[in-house]
Amino acid sequence: MVKVHSYETFATQDGPGIRLVFFLQGCQFRCQYCQNPDTLPLNAGTEMSADEILEIANKEKEYFWETGGITFSGGEPLLQAKNLKEVIKKLKENNFHTCIDTNGWIRNEDVKECLELVDHVLPDIKQMNPVKHKNLTGNDNQLSLSFVKTLDEMRKDYRIRYVVVPGITDQEEDIQKLGEFLQALPNFQRIELLPYHNLWVSKRKKLGIPYPLEGTHASTASELENVKKILEKYVGEKVMIRG
Ligand code: SF4
Repeated sequence: MVKVHSYETFATQDGPGIRLVFFLQGCQFRCQYCQNPDTLPLNAGTEMSADEILEIANKEKEYFWETGGITFSGGEPLLQAKNLKEVIKKLKENNFHTCIDTNGWIRNEDVKECLELVDHVLPDIKQMNPVKHKNLTGNDNQLSLSFVKTLDEMRKDYRIRYVVVPGITDQEEDIQKLGEFLQALPNFQRIELLPYHNLWVSKRKKLGIPYPLEGTHASTASELENVKKILEKYVGEKVMIRG
């Protein structure tokens, strides 16, 4: 059983193709821009078995075509790695393409098994500067960065995601550090730059969660382009902006 906050059909931003996305409960980060603050507590949500998830996937599969499939996001799905690996196993036995969206902070044998099973991984890098990372998420970035290196060593199919928050994650020196980090990954394929949205202020207020980024504007096209241009100096065309 995994604890599920909710699921979304026809998602196009969370892995290859058209996807069914399950948002799992629990996260050990507290990102200032978190869009899903109601997924953060682990002891919440609805318990779902591998068979129940398979049943939903079977209903949606005609829309996956050849490239789509099922993504586990959150929250932090690898917080439930022990049970998640059974779900992924079941989906793989039924020929579904699977994907995990993760902050890459948890290491244990169950996580290792999940990574061996899953087809595609979306690791987030939040900030290269460790002090700014701690301020932004509440944790340091060493484990998340070494997680990306592990995926690369495993030759896993992965795409890094990076949220461009004006004044917080788009400073030139931090983007240069990110470029150097990507350049040193032998099997790196792509980084997706995601715009920061401030649509979640009211959701957080309703939940009584403080919003430290109140007043920060949504990323503009030129701010995203600027980050893209810096990264292209390091990794060429492997940078894309997600809508
Ligand atoms: S890692 Fe993701 S789910 Fe967790 S706090 Fe950050 S944005 Fe929210």
